[in-house]
Amino acid sequence: MPIQNIVMSSSILLEAANQFGTPTYFYDLNVTMNQYRKLYNAFKPLEVQLHYALKALNNINILRVLKSEGAGLDAVSIEEIHLGLRAGYAPEKIMYTPNCVSFSEIQEAVELGVHINLDNLSMLEKFGNEYGSRVPVCIRVNPHIMAGGNANISVGHIDSKFGISIHQLRHVCRIVENYGMNIIGLHMHTGSDIIDPDVFLRGADLLYHAAEQFPDLKFMDFGSGFKVAYQEGEIVTDIEKIGVRITESFQEFCKSYGRDLELWFEPGKYIVSECGKLLVSTNVVKQTTSTVFVGVNSGQNHLLRPMFYNAYHKIDNISNPNGDRKLYSIVGNICESDTFGYDRMLNEVREGDVLAISNAGAYGFSMSNQYNARLRPAEVMLYNGELHLIRRRETIEDLYRTEIPVIE
Ligand SMILES: *Cc1c(COP(=O)(O)O)cnc(C)c1O
Repeated sequence: MPIQNIVMSSSILLEAANQFGTPTYFYDLNVTMNQYRKLYNAFKPLEVQLHYALKALNNINILRVLKSEGAGLDAVSIEEIHLGLRAGYAPEKIMYTPNCVSFSEIQEAVELGVHINLDNLSMLEKFGNEYGSRVPVCIRVNPHIMAGGNANISVGHIDSKFGISIHQLRHVCRIVENYGMNIIGLHMHTGSDIIDPDVFLRGADLLYHAAEQFPDLKFMDFGSGFKVAYQEGEIVTDIEKIGVRITESFQEFCKSYGRDLELWFEPGKYIVSECGKLLVSTNVVKQTTSTVFVGVNSGQNHLLRPMFYNAYHKIDNISNPNGDRKLYSIVGNICESDTFGYDRMLNEVREGDVLAISNAGAYGFSMSNQYNARLRPAEVMLYNGELHLIRRRETIEDLYRTEIPVIE
């Protein structure tokens, strides 16, 4: 599968850098909409409900363009619910899947009218006690299948803090029966890297089996795990293939369940990873005895994934597309190890050149911070052929806006 962002023309990226400065997050909304449609169409003839996981990227413009495509939202905090409502989503289009939050936060979400997904027995019991059969609820099951290899982003394995173990189903049933609870959905979110449809379907089978205990289901939510390419030639989720397999198995399940249920997913990365580039400028080209470092005006404070997950993000010099290919390590300007990429072949980098870091749409800006008292970048989108500033760069005032000087 070709990496989509290669075709994103570097002239528009350079124009964005010139017009809005660097560091800047750039999003091509055409790519976002194409990814949404590709995923949606993969499950035809079913009409899947895609709840975009807004923790990946929550700018209101992204939320609104996905809303116009028919998306719902997957929120993991009360604050994310508020962002979704503010963007114009109806409460019933929002699924709230919290982990280790207080019961009062769950109550707030109930009052806002969103779907509630519970992932531990203690909260299930409190919920049953408070609401009985009055408020329908979904249960997050941990099927203990391990998808992908990174323990930080694989959340379905046995020691994961997420979900109620499939082995604790009888405790779930006891609580549900005690309080006469209305269980309308079963959910699993196994991790971020699903490549093998068989692994995914093993998880689905466990949920189908669990569904026999719950006669009033309205939907099954299979979470996410759709992988996109970060490096050329990488194995990714073959969405057409996996779509056909899941659709078949789901239709079969509905037949044996006796009723057509809705099929839900919660993609984050798949929708927004490839639409985004982090545009940075080269401050220093620094030759040491063994390496040539390219030091840029950004760092782990703006894009944490390379350092936090050891994630590979492709980097291109868009200022010198015809320069000789040379070996560089690209690093940030933060006083911490903040290497964007070791030993990369780039067209010759000169001080002042603009580099584009790929796959920066998902978990880029949304994980950024102000470490070293550095300001967060601007966000810019390409929409209907035009560039728009969709979040201004922070200013020095933003840095101390919430601070309270007590000592003179
Ligand atoms: C983060 C998250 C997602 C989205 O994961 P991606 O890998 O970005 O697709 C979906 N569901 C839940 C519950 C999540 O926490």
